[in-house]
Amino acid sequence: MANPDRERLVALDKERVWHPYTEMSRYRETVDPLVVVRAEGSRLYDADGSVYLDANASWWTSVLGHNHPRLVEALRRQAGELCHTALAGITHPAAAELAERLCAVTPAGLEHVFYSDNGSTSVEVAMKLCLQYWSQNGRPERRGFVSLEEAFHGETLGVTALGGVEVFRRPFARSLLECIHVPAPTRPDSMERALDALAKAVLGNRDTLAGVVLEPVVQGAAGMQIYDPAFLVAARELCDEADVFLVLDEVFSGYGRTGPMWAGGHASVVPDLMCTAKGFSGGMFPMAATLATERIFEGFLGDPERAFYYGHTFCGNPLGAAVALEVLRVFDEEKVLEAAAPKSRRIAAAFDGLASLPGVTCVRSIGMIGALDLEGDSGYLAGAGWRVYEEARARGAYLRPLGNVVYVTPSLNIPDPDLDRLLEIVQESVTAVAG
Ligand SMILES: *Cc1c(COP(=O)(O)O)cnc(C)c1O
Repeated sequence: MANPDRERLVALDKERVWHPYTEMSRYRETVDPLVVVRAEGSRLYDADGSVYLDANASWWTSVLGHNHPRLVEALRRQAGELCHTALAGITHPAAAELAERLCAVTPAGLEHVFYSDNGSTSVEVAMKLCLQYWSQNGRPERRGFVSLEEAFHGETLGVTALGGVEVFRRPFARSLLECIHVPAPTRPDSMERALDALAKAVLGNRDTLAGVVLEPVVQGAAGMQIYDPAFLVAARELCDEADVFLVLDEVFSGYGRTGPMWAGGHASVVPDLMCTAKGFSGGMFPMAATLATERIFEGFLGDPERAFYYGHTFCGNPLGAAVALEVLRVFDEEKVLEAAAPKSRRIAAAFDGLASLPGVTCVRSIGMIGALDLEGDSGYLAGAGWRVYEEARARGAYLRPLGNVVYVTPSLNIPDPDLDRLLEIVQESVTAVAG
């Protein structure tokens, strides 16, 4: 039955809202968007009464499920006290307590927290810290970066230089900072070639490199491509040898997405700079942080002009900080990582079982990530993934693909019945399209 309010909202949306990653004429003519009016746990509620399992935890953010009562309460409590204040010459309880707690759960050696408001800026901050550090500590010629082919580190112009996903990079390719892209060790038998290329890039450019930036263990936007943590160990050794900074972008991989709290933990690698966002605020608030070692922090001390002249209006925003602090408490008190371990085994078993379906060329999983490749054109704009999306939607799941890669990244505490139903929907939808 038509819902007049829903129709009106969709009409307003199509008239005015410019959607991300979306060709708008096709969207206007052919897409019937979900109109989500409420969410709870792993479910999204549409204005038309439909309910959808949120297979990607709303762009990989909602690690504790939607509207976790403790996070909602933390937000409500903070909103009653202080919604925003500048972080210059001022601090506030949430920012201070959160920084202390964050340093306690990140690898030893990361001692200082710089706040910003999204994943892209957390990496942008790391890049600027590298550049300014070398510029004022005797190595101004160090301005280049190394990243992986198919990397994704966000959308600001600075971090677009690091990115290797072709559609996101192409329009801006002529306006970017220097970056050497080396092959990722994500394909079968690619490790040796990747290590070799990384060694050449780092050691061969040691005089001009500012940093190496990696998504540890999983390249999300590349299509949930997973690699052996041994690569991180080698990257750490090469960065040490060349005295270049290692930046780990844990924006997607952090907060237990791959099993341990941080994906760098698979290899016990301590970066010089670490970026966190997405799960950092439980998907409730735009909020991010970049953590730095003592050495980097000290490189900005002394004369006033040595300060890091960088900040965002909403740096350390009290609402975001209060939620992020509560997220860490919930992880601890509800033993979220331990409770997710058996769920991740369910995901692995289900995806292993999908490997034999017609039309599926490859499956992989790690932690709370399961992914499969569909036969056919690959690349971000490929079509088969969208047909699976439609089938899944008809069955009650929001299963946005990455090109021909169909994947799930549910909240870490998704109830077992919801997880099992979601995995069934993946199976049924892939079978309907490819079978
Ligand atoms: C999502 C993502 C970003 C960008 O975060 P935004 O909050 O969208 O700016 C950066 N790095 C990685 C690894 C990501 O997955």
